[in-house]
This record gives sequence, C-alpha cells and structure tokens, in this order.
Amino acid sequence: MASKMIYYFGKSRTDGAGDMKSLLGGKGANLAAMTKIGLPVPSGFTITTEVCVHYYKNGKKFPEGLLTDLNRAISWMEKETGKKFGDVRDPLLVSVRSGARDSMPGMMDTILNLGLNDSTTEGLAVATKNPRFAWDSYRRFIQMYGDVVMGVQKRHENEHEPFEEVMHHLKQEVKVKEDTELTEAHLKELVKRYKALIRERTGKSFPTDPVKQLEGAISAVFGSWMNERAILYRQKYRIPDEWGTAVNVQSMVFGNMGDDCATGVAFTRDPATGENVFYGEYLVNAQGEDVVAGVRTPLKIADMAHDKIIGPAYKELVEVRKILEKNFGDVQDFEFTIEKKKLYMLQTRNGKRTALAYVKIAHDMVKEKLMTPEHAVRSGDPEALNQLLQPIFDTDAYAKAKKEGRLMAVGLPAGPGAASGAVVFTAGKAEQLAAKGQPVVLARIETSPEDLRGMIAADGILTARGGVSSHAALVARQMGKVCVAGAGDVEIDYHKGTLKCKGVTLREGDAISINGSTGEVFHGKIATADSELKQVLVSKKMKPADSKVFQYYNFIMKLADGYRKLGLRTNADQPDQVANAIAFGAEGIGLCRTEHMFFEGDRIIAVRQMILAQEESDRKKALAKLLPYQQKDFEGIFRALDGRPACIRLLDPPLHEFLPQSDNKKGQEEVAKQLRISVEEVTKLVHELHEFNPMLGFRGCRLGIVRPEISEMQARAIFQAAAAVLKDGIKVKPEIMVPLVGFKKELDLQVEIIHRVAGEVMKETGKKFPYSVGTMIEVPRGALTADEIAETAEFFSFGTNDLTQTCLGMSRDDSNSFLPAYQGLEIVKANPFASIDTTGVGQLMKIGVEKGRSKRPELKIGICGEHGGDPSSVMFCHTAGLDYVSCSPFRVPIARLAAAQAALREQAAASKATVKKVAAKKKPSAKVSKTKSPATKSRRG
Ligand code: PEP
Ligand code: MG
Repeated sequence: MASKMIYYFGKSRTDGAGDMKSLLGGKGANLAAMTKIGLPVPSGFTITTEVCVHYYKNGKKFPEGLLTDLNRAISWMEKETGKKFGDVRDPLLVSVRSGARDSMPGMMDTILNLGLNDSTTEGLAVATKNPRFAWDSYRRFIQMYGDVVMGVQKRHENEHEPFEEVMHHLKQEVKVKEDTELTEAHLKELVKRYKALIRERTGKSFPTDPVKQLEGAISAVFGSWMNERAILYRQKYRIPDEWGTAVNVQSMVFGNMGDDCATGVAFTRDPATGENVFYGEYLVNAQGEDVVAGVRTPLKIADMAHDKIIGPAYKELVEVRKILEKNFGDVQDFEFTIEKKKLYMLQTRNGKRTALAYVKIAHDMVKEKLMTPEHAVRSGDPEALNQLLQPIFDTDAYAKAKKEGRLMAVGLPAGPGAASGAVVFTAGKAEQLAAKGQPVVLARIETSPEDLRGMIAADGILTARGGVSSHAALVARQMGKVCVAGAGDVEIDYHKGTLKCKGVTLREGDAISINGSTGEVFHGKIATADSELKQVLVSKKMKPADSKVFQYYNFIMKLADGYRKLGLRTNADQPDQVANAIAFGAEGIGLCRTEHMFFEGDRIIAVRQMILAQEESDRKKALAKLLPYQQKDFEGIFRALDGRPACIRLLDPPLHEFLPQSDNKKGQEEVAKQLRISVEEVTKLVHELHEFNPMLGFRGCRLGIVRPEISEMQARAIFQAAAAVLKDGIKVKPEIMVPLVGFKKELDLQVEIIHRVAGEVMKETGKKFPYSVGTMIEVPRGALTADEIAETAEFFSFGTNDLTQTCLGMSRDDSNSFLPAYQGLEIVKANPFASIDTTGVGQLMKIGVEKGRSKRPELKIGICGEHGGDPSSVMFCHTAGLDYVSCSPFRVPIARLAAAQAALREQAAASKATVKKVAAKKKPSAKVSKTKSPATKSRRG
C-alpha cells in the first residue's frame, strides 16, 4: 500500500481533519477535529479504512509496512503520554475501537484496557494505589479480548455467555450479589479462571505481549466489519461493504478509579423533541459501556452540577456543548470520561434524531446561525418525514400491547401510521361499519379495484399477499392510508370469516391494530392519536400559526425548495387528493389514473355495460352514460389544480378487473340483474376476459386500440371539462398520456383520436384550451425506441412499476414470494419495485431520455411509478436529467427534500471536481503530460 496508513491525533501533532470521514471513519475524523480545536482528547491514532479494504482484498492480511508504522505510532504515543506500553510500573493502556464512515452504533466491536498482563496489572495497581481497580480492569480486558479476538462466545442460543457464567459461579461461591462487591482477591481468582476458560476453549494461552495483543485486536476490529450484525445494519441503511472500517487506538482514561471519576454520554440537544436542552446521562465510578449496558441506573446530566466532587467538570461540559455545536454545525452525540476530576472527550458524532427533532433542530440552529442552510437540508432523512404525517399509536398503549405479547405478525410497512379497529374481510362490511362511525381494518388476502370503496372506508388495510407496488400498497399510499401488505403468516379465510396467526383466531368485528410504519400486526385495540401536521394541512382543524411543528416543517421545506431543481407532481385522481398534494408542495398532477374514477358511486354499472356490450352501438350507449361522470371528475380536478398541469392517463387496467370474478357468483348474478342479461352471459364473458397474468394482458393502450371508442370518450370528457372550467376563468393545462406504449404506431393511432376530439370540442364549445399528448415509457421496447416515439410524443413519463416488471421479468404482483430471499442474498440490494434498479431499469431510463431528447430536445420527462416518492430513486432521476418526479400526495414532502438533497449532492461533486482541476493545473506541465492516459493520447493521435 503506497498511501499513508496511520494518522495521529495528540498534543504534538494531528494529521487528520473533520472532513476526512471516508478515510478515517466518522470517529477518527472527529477525534482529529476535536483535538485540533483544543478539546481534551486522549492522544491516539487512526488506521485508515483503506487498510481495512486492503485487508479483505488480500486474504485478511495486513499490508506490508503496517507493523513497522504501528510500532512507530506506539512510540509516538508513549512520548505523548509519558507512559510506556508494557511498562511494569505505570503502563500505557489503550482502547481499540472501530469507526466506519457512517456511524453504525453498537454494530462492531470495542476492546478496552489493552496492554494489561500479570506484570503490568501489578504496575497499574501500584501506580494508581488501587489494586482492586487494576484487577477489575484486567478481568474486563480478558473478558472483552477473549470474546472479540479469541472467539470465546456462547456456542448455542440457550447457553449463557461463558465469561458471565464463570463470574456468576464465583459470585455464588463467595456469596456476593453485585460485581462491585468482588474484592481484589476475588478478581485475581476470576482472572485465573478466565484464562483457564480461554485455554480450554481455544487451546491457546492469553497473549501477554501488548504489541501482539494490539495486532490481534486490530484484526478483530477489521473482522467485525463482516459480522452478522454489521452486515445486516449495512443492508438496512444501504452502506456499501466496500467502505471498510477504520480502527482507532487511543490512550485509556478511567472513569472507574473512584468517586472523583465518571463516564457518560450526552446530546447537545434533545434528540427526541429537538428542544434546546442539554440531554444525557452519566455514572460515577464506572467504565465505558456501563452507561449503555444498563447495569446501573445512570443519573441525568444536569444532576452533575450538584455533585460536590465532580461538579466543576460539569461547567466544563456545558462549555464543551457550545464549542461542539459551533464547530460541527449540528447536534452532537458525544462520550466523555472524567478521570480524577479531569474531563476527557472520547468521541463525538452528529446525533441521530426523530423527524420532529430534525425539523426543530434544523430550524433553530439555522436561525441561531450555528448550522448552514445546506446542512439543514442535507442532513435530514427524507423517508423519516413520514413520521410527521401519520397517526401514531399512543406510546404507553403500544408498549403495553408489546409487553402483553399481542404482536401476531410482521408484513411490509406499506402505508405508514397506526390504525386500530374492527377487522372485516369484505369491502361492503368495511363501508357498513364505517358508516356507523366504527373504525375498521380491512383484511384481504390481496386487494383489487373492487375493494376500493372498502379501502376508502377503512382506517387501515392489511393484506396477506402482495409487495410494495401491489394494489393495496399503491392505493394506500395514494390515499395516505395505513397499510401492512404481504403479512405472509396471516391466514385469512373468507368463508369462515376468520383471520388466524400464531394460534390466535380473530373473527369479523374483533379488534386488530396495525402499524404501517413497521409492518406490525397486533390483536386487540391500541389507542391512536392524529398528527399535528395533518391537522394543519389536511383536515385544517388547526391553524398554521398555532402549530410549531408545522412552522418548523415549513421552514425546512422552503429551504429545500431553494436548492431543488426537479419539479414535483403527484399521483392523484380525486380533487381532495389534489388539494392535499398541493398543500404538501405538489406543482401539478403527474399521473391521474382514470380507471380509479370508474368505481365511484354507481357508475360501475355503466362500465360493466360497456364491457359486456356485444355491438359497438351498445358500447357507445354505455360510454355516453360514463361521459358526464368523467367530465365532472376532470372539472373537479382542474378546479383543484387552479391552472397547474394535469397529466391524465387513458384507461389502463385489464377489463376483468371491473367484473365480479369466477369465485363471486353472487356478484355475477347481481350484474346480470342490473344489466338485464342472463347470468350465463356474464359468466361466459368473465371467462373470456380472464387474464393469466393480468399485469401483462389486455391493458394499457392495447385497450384503446382495440376499442377506440373508450379513448374517444375519455378524451372528450377531458376536453369538455377543460372548456367548462375555462369558461369560469380557471386556467387548465391537460396533458393526455397514453399508457404502455411499445410501438410508435400504437401512440400514433391514439393521438389521432385525441387530436380529432380536441378539435371537435373546441369547435363545439368555442373555447381554445392548451393541451399536449405524450406517453408512458413502461415497457423496454418503448425505452429502446424512444427516438421514434418522441416524433409523436410531446412528453414522456416513466411508468417504473411496469418498466421494472417487464425489464426484470418479475411480476409486480407475486415477486414478493422470493424478493426477500433475493435481498438477503444480495442478488438485489433493495426491492426493485420500491427503489429503482439503477443498473438495469435505470439504464433503460437513460436510453429513453437520451433517445427521446435526440429527436425532441425540449421533451418534458417525468416519472410516475411508485419510485417517484423513494429518496434514492429521486436522486437517480435528478442525475438522469428528468424534469419532475410524481408520487402519492403524502410522499410529496419526502420527494421534495430528496430532490433538494440530490441538487446539493451534485453541487458538492461539481465543486470537488473544480478543486481537483485547479490542483491539476497548478502541477508543473511536464508532470501533467506524464499522467495523460494512453486513451487520450491515441484519440488525439
Ligand atoms: C407504472 O407502471 O409505473 C405506472 C405508474 O402505472 P400503473 O402502476 O398504473 O401500471
Ligand atoms: Mg403502468
């Protein structure tokens, strides 16, 4: 390895800096930063993440020269501290801790008191005049080292932790209850037994040479990067394996040498509420992990002010709190130790916080000029903004339900928030009970558009089958409904009217509670509370001026808008959804799924009449009945939009979705009666229209091509609505979108109808309205031939739900049966129906953008698949050059923040590139020409 492997931090020199997180890890970079600003940090050094990466690339071997550098670093630390490693009088002891680029709290291993052996422990006892402390430190070290480095751990789940077991036996023998009651003699005996345990389990002796101990510890910290916990954590938070961890070796300070010592953790502000209060806890006479481990109950940090012995250190801490916020420009979560009344800082990092704390802290710190507006926008987790919008379980009631063991199953968290009510299994029953004011949770094996009324009526939706872009999940998000989808352990029996899981059977009407933020399903009731933000923006029960939460949120959103380049639209098909989305910041509709309107009121009868009609004339009659309904719907939408653009998609789903299926004989009888035809006729048609794979069948523009009168009716409804609204002085901007186009000719045929109808309506009404016609790009052929399609299309919108299923050959309806396993095996990093598969689907999108704009440079391009509300997908859309993203109303704030972050990230990358360019320019010209790549040369040649 050519580059520098070890960076020092201490009184005489500090090599690193706060902005070197990718090389030194978060902990290492911040230790350097704290040292530089003069905070009391024990000296030490950081082994870089590059060394870890090298270690894994080379069969878990240290790079050449590391051991020499390590010895040099130890000598330097000896000079810094005035103590010697392995000294039998007053030894230098160190801690060895991991430190990745992003903090991974508790995921990797730590070793304290390294450097102790039988002789140095005696030396420590003499130097500190505290033999008990010395032997306690030694036994802790052997315990940690034996576990982490030598692998002496429990061998199966039911076994006790082996070192704890040994300690437990000794305590029983000597008849003491607490660890603190063990005397020096007991601890010496414990050390003996610990060593014997290690020998018995590993066949090796405990290493006595401090340098060998250190080498073992460094290997173990690198090894912990690949432990199960760390891998899982990285999967959840999408941290790449390739980053590796740094290792921090730091001289020990002790919080457990007596009552003039303490250790603690603190936040510069409250991470739950964001309040500007010093928040934390500490323990007197304790070491490191004791505070977090919960062995003793810690005290509140403010209580330290009244401690007669360490009270003065509190004053210092208060000062440190201010210095940290000023220097790091964000709330800090830090660890400290007080050794003999002197304060030491052991680490600091940006504190993790709730969404509420995020908006409050960002608002306050920007106003206090402690945080930059860029950081305020960049540091938020867009997804977490959901917490501000959703009803929540009452905290105590939720804890009680968990304690009582009422958790039945965990499915996909598909629509965040909490709902509690009577479980029902049919849409009809949901409506019936909801009409009586009873909260209900609609539980279905899976939902279909037939269930829509029930879904609207229900407080929450639970399905046993289906993924994140299943019908239930999609509709729930659009409505802002609480939803748990694909809870595979739940068994729903429609005939018996039961829901079974883990030995519990619920019948219709029994209480059930679901948490759509976590996917949890509980039996029984759990009280819920409405979110303040929703009361301001949706129900308008609360005035903005009365809600602090709204004001903080709004402040951040406005800041974000200052950076955002992507436009923001919403997927909505009802005026109230449009109004909600606009309140959240949407600038128009990106997808209006017209078929959702077919289930409103009793218009489904006319829809069915249209489908069942044998003759074109009968079909036209049915369509004529639908026309005024649709027109009225579009008028409502145009009015709610008040001049903003409306991208309206022509009919898409396969026709069978509008009919009662073969397992619903009663429904078919009802249809026969309503339409005055025989049940046999209905059954025959249901059979004919049956789709083997509904999501790839007779749908999208295929419908409008075979039955052009449907497209004609929809176009007419849109344009007549536009003319009517225009008459009232309200501007309109309809964009008519043709779905599932793979051939230019498909689009041409539909566009011809749309233009003809537009002309007719303009003539009939005498009103001229602007409109445009475009298409969805949602099958690979559409993307690959985007240049041809762009000859006709005035805009594109990527339908990434269908584009994902057709690109990957995975059905959006049933891929949930194997996708979790695929994620576990890292075949896919994330669910491709939730987060764009950038290498596959993303490539098709890039081709679509490039080819489309090659033919029509001003082509407007958006996305309206579920991915439009997913932060990492929004990031991708920004870099792919899209004009806007469109998502369900309740995800608009998430996309809004993510879009701003994407722009800021691009800005940062651009300024980094400029710095590099300037640096390269400053180099002597001979060197520059030397570094030219052969490719550049040959292209020139
Ligand atoms: C899509 O396919 O991404 C899309 C938005 O359309 P739908 O989900 O209605 O098929
Ligand atoms: Mg689609």
